[in-house]
Amino acid sequence: MSLPPKNLYSYPKFWPHKKGLVPAPLLPMSRKEMDRLGWDSCDIIIVTGDAYVDHPSFGMAIIGRLLESQGFRVGIISQPDWHSADDFRKLGKPNLFFAVASGNMDSMVNHYTAEKRPRSDDAYTAGGVAGKRPDRATTVYTQRAKEAFKGVPVIIGGIEASLRRIAQYDHWSQTIRRSILPDSKADLLLFGNAERAVVEVAHRVASGENIKEITDIRGTAYMRQGIPKGWTVLDSSEIDADKSLNHPQTDPYADTSAKDKQGCTDNSNQAKSNKINPNQGATQVIDFDQRTKGLKREETVIRLPSFEQVAKDRYLYAHTSRVFHLETNPGNARSLIQRHGERDVWLNPPPIPLSMEEFDSVFELPYTRKPHTAYGKLKIPAYDMIRFSINIMRGCFGGCTFCSITEHEGRIIQSRSENSVIREIETIRDNIDDFKGNISDLGGPTANMYRLQCKDSKIEAACRRLSCVYPDICPNMGTDHKPLTKLYRRARSLKGVKRIFIASGLRYDLAVRDPEYIKELVTHHVGGRLKIAPEHTEDNTLSKMMKPGIGSYHQFKKLFERYSEQAGKEQYLIPYFISSHPGTSDEDMLNLALWLKRNNFKPDQVQAFIPTPMAIASAMYHSELNPLKKITRQSESVKTPRSGVQRKLHKAFLRYHDPKNWDILRQALKRMGRSDLIGNTDKCLVPYSRMSSTPIKPQRSRKKHNDFHHRISKNNYKNK
Ligand code: SF4
Repeated sequence: MSLPPKNLYSYPKFWPHKKGLVPAPLLPMSRKEMDRLGWDSCDIIIVTGDAYVDHPSFGMAIIGRLLESQGFRVGIISQPDWHSADDFRKLGKPNLFFAVASGNMDSMVNHYTAEKRPRSDDAYTAGGVAGKRPDRATTVYTQRAKEAFKGVPVIIGGIEASLRRIAQYDHWSQTIRRSILPDSKADLLLFGNAERAVVEVAHRVASGENIKEITDIRGTAYMRQGIPKGWTVLDSSEIDADKSLNHPQTDPYADTSAKDKQGCTDNSNQAKSNKINPNQGATQVIDFDQRTKGLKREETVIRLPSFEQVAKDRYLYAHTSRVFHLETNPGNARSLIQRHGERDVWLNPPPIPLSMEEFDSVFELPYTRKPHTAYGKLKIPAYDMIRFSINIMRGCFGGCTFCSITEHEGRIIQSRSENSVIREIETIRDNIDDFKGNISDLGGPTANMYRLQCKDSKIEAACRRLSCVYPDICPNMGTDHKPLTKLYRRARSLKGVKRIFIASGLRYDLAVRDPEYIKELVTHHVGGRLKIAPEHTEDNTLSKMMKPGIGSYHQFKKLFERYSEQAGKEQYLIPYFISSHPGTSDEDMLNLALWLKRNNFKPDQVQAFIPTPMAIASAMYHSELNPLKKITRQSESVKTPRSGVQRKLHKAFLRYHDPKNWDILRQALKRMGRSDLIGNTDKCLVPYSRMSSTPIKPQRSRKKHNDFHHRISKNNYKNK
């Protein structure tokens, strides 16, 4: 990382602080509350698709309280009626800007199931009712905010804006959508964890800078025409593609902007001289460490294929996804641009992670830790789930391709200090009336990545691997769980604390490196059942997920059972699996079902793969190519279960024990030549049909099996 970032709290506080107008007991949601606080106006108004819960697990509370700590008066417009601009006027005109987010979830994921059926509830709404926010909430809110007060800047952030910052596959419309920036017409987009960016933007706008001129902050994106003076443009084709990907025209991604061309260096020859060995790229899962000699990283921008190109060419889409993901390490990422019509979306490099002190302070702002009083006695399910749980870290270096945590929070783990976590437990103990002594979780995106990091900060800054734990745990990754074990011990020794549970997902391949940690966990922190997520058993699928082989699960299980027995406890592992992940064949699902049966697992819930915006697995789903490898026109195809029929079958394999699925499984097994698995013996997956009095003769014909695939593809892949 080039320059050390400016400390979050080093800015002079804005003037309302001096007048004692902040902090507010609760950020106001009405004019009445503003009057009670003695405010004539808000400096910043946050518009959110969630109910306002003043708790650090909710994005609007973190950003609101952080801006307030800088002296700004912050109001909240929660779940406004989007059918007109009236609700967007209810707190008056903000002095600086609107900050808009869909909420803690992408609004489309919030609204629809994997099979695109509308959900009947919403965990982030009072009363749990659905329908309190529009589809594509960030775009709709931005447009209404602009309509309410013309000329007031609108900044967008949160998961929806962050993961739709470049052209992306949208499962719900089955199209490639443009970046959310041109769709919403927002002035600035903040991606990832936005504390540093939002604080800097607020102070710069407050000091009179025009939002259109704020173009140099990490973790921000905006629309522009032309390339700034002194910058060098590198085509992504020069750094990670081969000639077979080139468009018939001379240079498919060339900067064709006629405007402002001076000052932009064409460096294609220089870049070509540094091209990586194509043979090497074809054989390795990750092969992208292109250091373009003589170019300043801070003044180099990579041109991705345009929206128009990726929308019609799946090879270019997969290539774009690959380049985008390999430019996410704040230590070495370069700026990216992607043409949309006549303009470019410009992405600055990702934000520098917060220091431990800064991270602590963000969690120790004066939250009430409760929903706004306007909701009365209505329950907010997401709040009820986390009210006694503590977030101890953020970020994930696992890189699972179906998950977007890394794209949003980054690969570098940010951890809170032990003291800060302990203070939060004490705050809950001393202030929450119905606290009975049980902490429901000490966790984060991954329970056991607390304080784990690359052993060398220089190596970390230069690294472009997508995962620190795939295909194996990197030798540079520290796997000592002692700080976490120490934290657990201290937390459970606190007066008034009876039990501390660990409910966040566990990375068991890391945990087995520290058996003492597993012993601690199993002896004291498992409430009878521990959820873990192997996600699959078959290498074919696991390699597309970037998940460890099932071998480490068995290692973990052995230790889990040994320590449970030593503790005199009857405890169980509950493994979770995903159906229909790209790259999964019917045989893979059958093998998984047989593994479940052998191990006597009968999953209650089944997670079907959803191609969420920006995830690598979503790029696989759309393109049927594998962006974990260099993309060429000859790249091998990744077969992807897409049709309703095949997805239903894959789900049925996971719930092989449910009689409702037996018919579909019997039919599939017959077509796959595995009638030997239909019957009433232990080795069978499903019993005979009651309609059939005679056993079906096992068939093992390869041809029949292929026929099934053929029929599925012919009838059900039409919407590709
Ligand atoms: S641990 Fe390995 S993969 Fe992770 S940042 Fe360090 S060198 Fe890269």
